[in-house]
Amino acid sequence: MGTVVEITVANCSEDQARSAIKEAMGEFKRIDDLMSSYKPGSVVSRVNQNGSSAKVPVGEEVLRVLRDAVAISGASGGAFDPTIWPVVQLWGLDQGGSIPIAGLLTNKLELVGYKKLIFDDSKYSVGFSVTGMGLDLGAVAKGWAVDRAMEKLMALGIRNAIIDAGGDLRIIGARPGKEFWRIGVQHPRESGALLLSFDLKDTAIVTSGDYERFFVADGVRYHHILDPSTGQPARGCQSVTVLAPTASEADACATAAFVLGPSEGLAFLRARPGVRGVIVGADGQLHWTDEALARMAHR
Ligand code: AMP
Ligand code: MG
Repeated sequence: MGTVVEITVANCSEDQARSAIKEAMGEFKRIDDLMSSYKPGSVVSRVNQNGSSAKVPVGEEVLRVLRDAVAISGASGGAFDPTIWPVVQLWGLDQGGSIPIAGLLTNKLELVGYKKLIFDDSKYSVGFSVTGMGLDLGAVAKGWAVDRAMEKLMALGIRNAIIDAGGDLRIIGARPGKEFWRIGVQHPRESGALLLSFDLKDTAIVTSGDYERFFVADGVRYHHILDPSTGQPARGCQSVTVLAPTASEADACATAAFVLGPSEGLAFLRARPGVRGVIVGADGQLHWTDEALARMAHR
């Protein structure tokens, strides 16, 4: 998934820890093998190769993730869109990236639009109504994998743990001898420094940032979170951190709010029960969904 996964478990034997972590790590590979747009053999890649001519069976799990993603597309007015893949490929940020030719970008943008997906839920299959479309679950698959990995830990009796997939976290229980885990949020402009931290229990906390994958040309930062209405990197935020019951929801909401920008992004987050967060605007200003969360933060 192009990131480092770190799993911390506590209050168990070393043997129990080792086997639980191994099982949980397996979920990341399993889900990447299903949902990566970069792995030619993945289920999502099979849709991208064949979905223009036929509906492709994807199985229950991929369909569920895609259905959840499309629901977030609707709720965000299309700011979040899992059919952004043709435009993502054009920017090539996984390989350094470069500014696309304008005409090419316009052509690829016509292929983007979650309403152009065709579902056959009874057959767990998905296809495209426009030739050349493509799926990208990169904004949600990591969160989904974190949740599935945490399920594995819990099934193996672990009650105190953190799973951190490059800023997508889920935590259960507490640090030994404490009531909580202390979780840091990366500063979007100071590499290796924390913007703030929270003392948390039993939650997911996910950050989307323009510092994760980007290049700079003529002093302008071009990053990996794209606005489907323009095909350009979204300009409203430096980062968005979302707390939610699951990492899947937090992951999708963080990306959606990033594209929406501080004002609409806050409204979007506030409208979702159990979801809260903090948005760092393009000017570095912090915008909180609620005062209580702001008071909880250590700076
Ligand atoms: P995240 O790091 O969770 O914010 O996800 C960013 C990744 O999601 C990018 O690397 C793209 O693969 C994909 N992506 C970019 N823009 C969007 C968007 N507007 N909606 C959905 N996925 C996107
Ligand atoms: Mg995301």
